Amino acid sequence: MVYFRSEAQKANFVKLEEEILGQWDREKTFERSVARREGCEKFVFVEGPPTANGLPHPGHILTRVMKDLVLRYKTMRGFYVERKAGWDTHGLPVEIEVEKELGTNSKREIEEYGIEKFNRKCRESVFRYEKEWVNATKRVGFWIDMDSPYITFDNGYIESVWWSLKEIWKKGLLYKGHKVVPYCPRCETTLSSHEVAQGYEDVEDPSIYVKFKLKQEKESVFMLAWTTTPWTLFGNIALAVHPEHTYAKVKVKPEGGEEEILILAEARLDALEDEYEIIERLRGKELEGKEYEQLFDVPVEGKSHTVINADFVTLEEGTGVVHIAPAFGEDDYGVCREKGLGFSQPVNSEGRFTNDVPLLEGIFVKDADKLIIEMMKQRGVLYKEGRYLHSYPFCWRCGSPLLYYARESWFIAMKSLRDNLIANNEKINWYPSHLKYGRFGNFIENIEDWALSRERFWGTPLNIWICTGCGKGYCVGSIKELKDKAKNFVPSDLDLHRPYIDEVVLKCDECGGEMRRVKDVIDCWYDSGTAPFAQWHYPYENEEFRQNFPADFITEAIDQTRGWFYSLLAVSTAIFDAPPYLSVLSMGHILDEKGVKMSKSKGNVVDINVIFNNEGADALRWYFFTTGPPSDDIRFSEHAILEKQKKFLNTLWNSYFFFVTYATIDEFDPKKKEIVIEKRSAMDRWIISRLNTLTKDVVYAIERFEIHIAARKVEDFVIDDLSNWYIRRSRRRFWIVEENFDKDCAYLTLYEVLVSLCKLLAPFVPFITEHIYQNIVRTNSEDELGSVHLCDYPSPEESLIDAELEDSMDMVSRLVEAGRRARSDAGIKIRQPLKEVAVVCSKGKREKVASLAGMLKDELNVKEVKFEESLEDITAKAVAETLAEERKFKKVEVDDVSLFLDVTLDKSLIEEGLVRDLVRRIQGMRKDLDLDYTAKIGIMYEGDEEVKEAINKLSDYICEETLAVSIEEGMPISESRGEGFYEKKWKIGKKEVYLGIEKNSNFYI
Ligand SMILES: [Zn+2]
Ligand SMILES: [Zn+2]
Repeated sequence: MVYFRSEAQKANFVKLEEEILGQWDREKTFERSVARREGCEKFVFVEGPPTANGLPHPGHILTRVMKDLVLRYKTMRGFYVERKAGWDTHGLPVEIEVEKELGTNSKREIEEYGIEKFNRKCRESVFRYEKEWVNATKRVGFWIDMDSPYITFDNGYIESVWWSLKEIWKKGLLYKGHKVVPYCPRCETTLSSHEVAQGYEDVEDPSIYVKFKLKQEKESVFMLAWTTTPWTLFGNIALAVHPEHTYAKVKVKPEGGEEEILILAEARLDALEDEYEIIERLRGKELEGKEYEQLFDVPVEGKSHTVINADFVTLEEGTGVVHIAPAFGEDDYGVCREKGLGFSQPVNSEGRFTNDVPLLEGIFVKDADKLIIEMMKQRGVLYKEGRYLHSYPFCWRCGSPLLYYARESWFIAMKSLRDNLIANNEKINWYPSHLKYGRFGNFIENIEDWALSRERFWGTPLNIWICTGCGKGYCVGSIKELKDKAKNFVPSDLDLHRPYIDEVVLKCDECGGEMRRVKDVIDCWYDSGTAPFAQWHYPYENEEFRQNFPADFITEAIDQTRGWFYSLLAVSTAIFDAPPYLSVLSMGHILDEKGVKMSKSKGNVVDINVIFNNEGADALRWYFFTTGPPSDDIRFSEHAILEKQKKFLNTLWNSYFFFVTYATIDEFDPKKKEIVIEKRSAMDRWIISRLNTLTKDVVYAIERFEIHIAARKVEDFVIDDLSNWYIRRSRRRFWIVEENFDKDCAYLTLYEVLVSLCKLLAPFVPFITEHIYQNIVRTNSEDELGSVHLCDYPSPEESLIDAELEDSMDMVSRLVEAGRRARSDAGIKIRQPLKEVAVVCSKGKREKVASLAGMLKDELNVKEVKFEESLEDITAKAVAETLAEERKFKKVEVDDVSLFLDVTLDKSLIEEGLVRDLVRRIQGMRKDLDLDYTAKIGIMYEGDEEVKEAINKLSDYICEETLAVSIEEGMPISESRGEGFYEKKWKIGKKEVYLGIEKNSNFYI
């Protein structure tokens, strides 16, 4: 009886994967794999929700397969691993996409279009590519529950978000502030500091030195200040100097200009272009209160244009005199308030000059640099100009340069939670670990309050109502509360979004007046930060959420460090004062082949379906896992994926193919054989030992998220140990026709290794392992589980690890390698047999090598391995040298073992070498004809006398090796041969040899 289905020699991975997907679907393998572990210890994962308003690109696929690997692995290790998909659906990214479609370019245009219609468009757009996302997710083998995902725009989700904001409100951490905040003039909204942190780019700005003329001086005396944002000069209110620093009054005479006096910090005199003469030194303190002339005529409310003292002035760059514009800088705003100075805001919410600056009215501030510099030249207030390369923040969504603006916003007081953030971060394991105190740690050390509100349309509405009568605020925490407090009727299915929620008026408890909702929505990063509980609609459902908290594991790309990784920690710290996850793996980015980050805007995104259809998901996954540490960026290359397929998947397939081919011929039944490991050959015990060592290493590495180390170890095992050594060296054992104990050992060993390897590899390459498992386990066993993914992950069996044997084998394989080098140095091909090799080594080593001497003999293709006895009083090395000289052997050394390879060839050795060359050609020709492993052939040949003699002497050997039934001399006329006859002329060394083979045939001339 045949126990296995035979296979094609060449795998069609894409087809195979599609079949497996169908099977998983039919048999609900994913659902069963989760359900099987119900009641077991939980391993909690939270899916970082993607937005489906764009196509998934390779970077998304990378994080998805990494998640999949860890979750499959944990499931196989016996954990109960629920996996709920999620969709991020709110916020600026969505609005901007819809705006592009509608062609709107300002909030006013959206309002004209209608908020209701606009938000409907947003809602539709977020699932535009859902199908593509679902397909790609399934196709790559990411097992996650996409039938009941959490969606951030669902009323239930919003209700949980509201609950959490009310908790924060109750703690007094949610407040309204008038602050200078980063602001996008295109999106016309405030951004949070973690959003700003994502969008820095190096840009060149003007670097200008501006002269402010002091009043009440006899001569022309100027304060010299420096700025890279000329447009802010229109909001200038003061100049700040450090009270303790020394300032110099210098006389300069610019080329072609009038002599004038400038004041700047002594330490910054380098900034001057011309020769100067110091005429006086002053402390910053002494300059305080001096008044200066306003640069441009702009209306100002309150006291202004005076020199003030401020501790934040530094001497690192500029002139030590800082131009202060409270409308555009956080420090500026603070110091002006402190000193009771006035305020000027000549720029509107779109970042354009107002009619306070008639000459520039309507111009976007960043476009006005040249005009402003020209105006300054005309007024004689520009000392010098240049360019300045610095890092400047841009809107992470629309790419506009951000401006710092004094605005009213709602904030979460994260600064006051700084110590809690730090303490909770302590409890988190970061991979790679340097992020913990580096990129992430530094960020929370210097945390700013969270600017939460967005003056936008499509988002979770900020759940705060303010009384129009007494000004009291109220935070609504649930739909029920909303209905209870509303003055107007609120239907149960009210869409909680704008504009509907804006209609709901509450009754003020304090004065009985009307409370109206503030118009803002909230930062969508807050939405996703609530995912651990909002996905369960906690606390209004799923009380047991606390068992799923904190998560054991999350992973996303490195750009989430200040994105989702932070928003999760911030929300969780504010509400539960606990870390939201215990381990976080930060992944690298996908770059294109030139090393540029893949992005839609750069047009260098690879269509992932091309890879699915050409190389398949396993090849892609294996490529991702082996390329480097998960935290490294990957230069994506289809060619490299194809290489992975050839190198690894094909080798795995060939090993499996070898097994099923012979097991089918021999009708091998793994159930009927049971041979204890101790009774098997050293080769068998060795591969089993290696497998267990590998298992140990793989588990160790995955637990530390060193996925590349785990994967590379398996790759080395499959290619070097299993295929190149074990199977290649054991081939002949499978070729024995009759019943044979050693053959059984070989079958059983290879079978066991393949089954274990499938389980070990299942989380990495889930398709090919499932395919192999289905054939070699499922088809012949009734009590199996139906899928490799339902199995337990292999545990290393220490008792089967034979370190000494692995050591000896390692020694032998290194000797083989060295011996082969010696052969090639002597110009002798590996197929040419040699007479002998002598080994000289210490007694301890000798035993090791001797136990595997047969292997050495085969691999080095020598007739005999001799162990030379060394004399008691001479070191092995001395003997070695003597031997080398006297007997003229080729000598190689590995550690302290020496090999002496006899490289002299006699006639019979040469004949043998020739015949082996011929055998190799014939086997190649069998392959060309695509003959079955068992097909018999007939051989014809023609060559010189030496060839003839050699063939005659060794014809039995040739027949045995090539499954030939006849060898005949003579050159046939090709045309007279039948179908399937194949002939070829060969050059072997200097000899010309003709060979012809034919399947199952008797030759005639
Ligand atoms: Zn923007
Ligand atoms: Zn009131």
